[in-house]
Amino acid sequence: METKEIIFNLRARDGLSQDELAEKICVTRQAVSRWENGETVPNTETLKLLSKFFDVSINTLLGSPRRLICQCCGMPLDDSSISREIDGALNEEYCKWCYSGGKFVYENLEAMIDFLVGQMSSENWPPEQVRTYFEAQLPRLGHWRQPKK
Ligand SMILES: [Zn+2]
Repeated sequence: METKEIIFNLRARDGLSQDELAEKICVTRQAVSRWENGETVPNTETLKLLSKFFDVSINTLLGSPRRLICQCCGMPLDDSSISREIDGALNEEYCKWCYSGGKFVYENLEAMIDFLVGQMSSENWPPEQVRTYFEAQLPRLGHWRQPKK
């Protein structure tokens, strides 16, 4: 789906007219009309407002161009698993299990890997293999990447 249909569908979901939506996020009705005609796409600041207002991620508003992955544990993210800031805004970098109440749940890479080894090991995927896998994968994610020296 494109942004124009997504905005239209969300507005319809909430039973709002173009005027009412425009008023809620402080833009003109013409602006809403242009988004829904596909003439323009909301700018970054407006996307943030729409994200908060409709409670969907900016990625969803844009038609899911990015495959979101938690930058802490590597899990694929969707709107139900994305973390939130304390004010309720979605934080599309992390899942809600890794980042909660404005804080990271796992203090360091070892704690994260220990948790994943406990969760993911099975008969088919023994713990030492799980550990090797995550020790290779996780340092590539944004949260664990070491700043260059
Ligand atoms: Zn995570």
